[in-house]
Amino acid sequence: MEIAFCQYIFYRAFSLINDVFCVIFIMGYSMLFKYLGTAAAEGFPALFCNCDACKRALNAGGRNIRGRSAALLDGHILIDFPADMLAYKIRYNLDLINIKYILFTHSHIDHLAANELCYYHHWYSNRDTSGSGITIFGNAKVLQLIQDAYKFDTGSMNDSITLCQIELFKKIELGEIIFTPLAAKHDSKEECAIYLIETNESKLLYANDSGPLPDTTYNFLKGTRLDFVSLDCTCGKISADGGHMGFPENLLTKNRLIEQGSADNTTTFISHHFSHNGLVTYDDFSGLAAGSGFISSWDGMELVL
Ligand SMILES: [Zn+2]
Ligand SMILES: [Zn+2]
Ligand SMILES: [Zn+2]
Repeated sequence: MEIAFCQYIFYRAFSLINDVFCVIFIMGYSMLFKYLGTAAAEGFPALFCNCDACKRALNAGGRNIRGRSAALLDGHILIDFPADMLAYKIRYNLDLINIKYILFTHSHIDHLAANELCYYHHWYSNRDTSGSGITIFGNAKVLQLIQDAYKFDTGSMNDSITLCQIELFKKIELGEIIFTPLAAKHDSKEECAIYLIETNESKLLYANDSGPLPDTTYNFLKGTRLDFVSLDCTCGKISADGGHMGFPENLLTKNRLIEQGSADNTTTFISHHFSHNGLVTYDDFSGLAAGSGFISSWDGMELVL
């Protein structure tokens, strides 16, 4: 009788654990967010530069070496497509055939290498072209530049690419992941975006080339608690003016997000998109950042959302 009772208790405990794990598995959706590159336009070290910051980055190596900013979500969604994408494919052993969506922040050439995207055309690829191809989201200028590049290179875009124009503050649902392009103050000649990225489990604000966030973006984020905030830190420790941020502006942004309840002391703050003109390498910056509750992004850094 005692043995039977023990067996019953064991069975109930096992069932309960099993049920809990099943619920977590069904309810939760975790996403891997990988920073492929974390530099501003010129790269770090910059292509044509031998300044002190570039020399120190090159000598130190490791996380001090930064490629142009881009991110990969769950192996099939890219944010931006810089000229370093081939290097990232090799460095991280990426299978870019799996890419189904590319979301662009804006058209600047460190984020959109339109000529490189032409290599998706079947002239240049032996992939199976019977699938659904790639859907590209971007502002009007992004989509026009891609069309122009294809027209120049292959004559037309007859190659399973679907172009969708984004609308600021309007959600884009891609399976379990929701993207909302939010306003950035970066280049008045086009509608630059940063992205709110949401899964069932967490929320990430991903920003590069944002400048201090506009009031419309702060207002949209009221009522949303962010788990991760990744901010433009193009100018390093130097205070920025206009369409970029430096670390002083990152601190102001953090304070305002906390004040309005969009972040708290459990939110992870990340400084991202570094220019050599900001004069700080990863090694220089990471100590400064940690003292104020930030971490510095690095190429290959991963977040589980
Ligand atoms: Zn940039
Ligand atoms: Zn330099
Ligand atoms: Zn830019």
